Amino acid sequence: MAILEEPIKEVLNLKNYIGGEWVESKGKLVDVVNPATCKAIAKVPISTKNEIDAAVDVAIEAFPDWRRTPPLARARCLFRLKELMEERFEELSRIQTMEHGKTIDESRGETRRGIENVEVATGIPSLMMGYNLEDIAAGIDEYVIRQPIGVFGIIGPFNFPFMVPLWFAPYAVATGNCIIIKPSSEDPISQVKIAELAEEAGIPPGVWNVVNGGRTVVSGMLDHPDLNGICFVGSTPVGRDVVYRRCGETGKRVIAQCGAKNFLLVMPDADLSRTIAACMTSFYGNTGQRCLSGANLIVVGEGLNEHEYEAFYKKVVNTFVDAASNIRVGYGLDESVQIGPLRDKGKKERVVGFIEKGIEEGAKLRLDGRNVKLIGDWPHTCFLNPTVFDDVTPDMTIGREEIFGPVASIMRARSLDEAIEIVHGSPFGNAASIFTSSGKWAREFQYKVQCGNIGINIGIAAPMAFFPFSGMRDSFFGTLHGQGVEAVRFFTESKVVIQRWF
Ligand code: NAD
Repeated sequence: MAILEEPIKEVLNLKNYIGGEWVESKGKLVDVVNPATCKAIAKVPISTKNEIDAAVDVAIEAFPDWRRTPPLARARCLFRLKELMEERFEELSRIQTMEHGKTIDESRGETRRGIENVEVATGIPSLMMGYNLEDIAAGIDEYVIRQPIGVFGIIGPFNFPFMVPLWFAPYAVATGNCIIIKPSSEDPISQVKIAELAEEAGIPPGVWNVVNGGRTVVSGMLDHPDLNGICFVGSTPVGRDVVYRRCGETGKRVIAQCGAKNFLLVMPDADLSRTIAACMTSFYGNTGQRCLSGANLIVVGEGLNEHEYEAFYKKVVNTFVDAASNIRVGYGLDESVQIGPLRDKGKKERVVGFIEKGIEEGAKLRLDGRNVKLIGDWPHTCFLNPTVFDDVTPDMTIGREEIFGPVASIMRARSLDEAIEIVHGSPFGNAASIFTSSGKWAREFQYKVQCGNIGINIGIAAPMAFFPFSGMRDSFFGTLHGQGVEAVRFFTESKVVIQRWF
């Protein structure tokens, strides 16, 4: 067991970045703890209302000059930001592992996808172009221009501390807007590091701001009359009942990407070894703390008789349990480890609560991750090993609610239609996957299923940076999504001009 060098050597004192200055907050400080070692690695301020107000003020002040900056000049700042991120790629990735717990490979993947969003946003001169038509009537032309709007708040979740704010920030800034990022206070270091690079890249003061904290900062954003819109990623109760509702009341633009409970269907003709390998990454990658994680596996018996179905079901369950029991758990800076700890003790206790509920409600516990076995001698505080239940029914708590941990629930369905009905019984609609070699079943599934991100023989249906990060039903509130062209549209207003020229 070799642990990679930790880039954070002493406890960092995190500040806010407001108007190009690194400002000490007046709010109380809380510890950011590495969940694998249980050691504090930073202190983060829980900022006050005055501090978020100050950030909105400087962003408003910076907006007129930034929107007048030519798109290519804005893009050049993002090219520099991308270069700086590439230079610091490994350090930024290791910081994510230290502050969140995910494995170094998962962190590297996260850094890469974050950078890809910066890369896509550098194409802003063409992404932001309008369109026109001559002679819509005698002597009259008409055209559409896209203009930036002003100031946006970006509120991040804990599970992708580096990447998620970058689904929005580069597009907001490239289109000429100013932003205030509020990272999750559980793992805020990555966003502070990115802001340092944004400063070094020459993004002018007031354009890219970071205010650390919790609800007070979010409320300050939602209530501020001159903040134009919010991008939120987090749980459904906060996204729907706090952010989306309040933005509706105050007339702000909003993207609220929320919670999930994702279903993976395995059809009788699926390539089982590839399916199970994909399931391991889907259900257990990021320790199950991913909005695209597999949560429920439905073994579908389409075309099989009773006897064949039982044999198929058993084979899937046994292969799944075998693979899950071989997953190596430990500190993510050990490159041989496949999953890290949960983000904190409270999150582990919550997942353990779900496991107890599953047993109580009659699901069969086939692999119990509460028996913690680690690579290395780490405190067990935040760790759980992979857990598998079978004979789960859709009405059970573990089949219904978002667990956000390394727990798989295996269910039965005798036909594809029955499986799709089970998917639609869940209020969430973030992602769903099918494993099959039948083009017909794959087409039928992607046509019928009401989820935003669909996988066909893919366990994690994560859209590339140039496609929208979708979501439906209780997983998404808003109209346009983060990433790519949809983000560009979200951060711009269409203005229609009609011109008589003679
Ligand atoms: P969370 O809702 O607890 O927190 C998200 C953000 O909101 C944080 O910055 C937090 O400080 C703030 N917040 C929390 N409670 C608040 C309140 N009462 N009022 C105002 N602000 C509040 O979510 P989390 O635990 O950080 O993240 C996990 C959740 O995010 C999961 O439900 C997961 O599915 C979801 N998620 C969704 C997507 C997606 O694209 N759909 C992506 C990643 C994560």
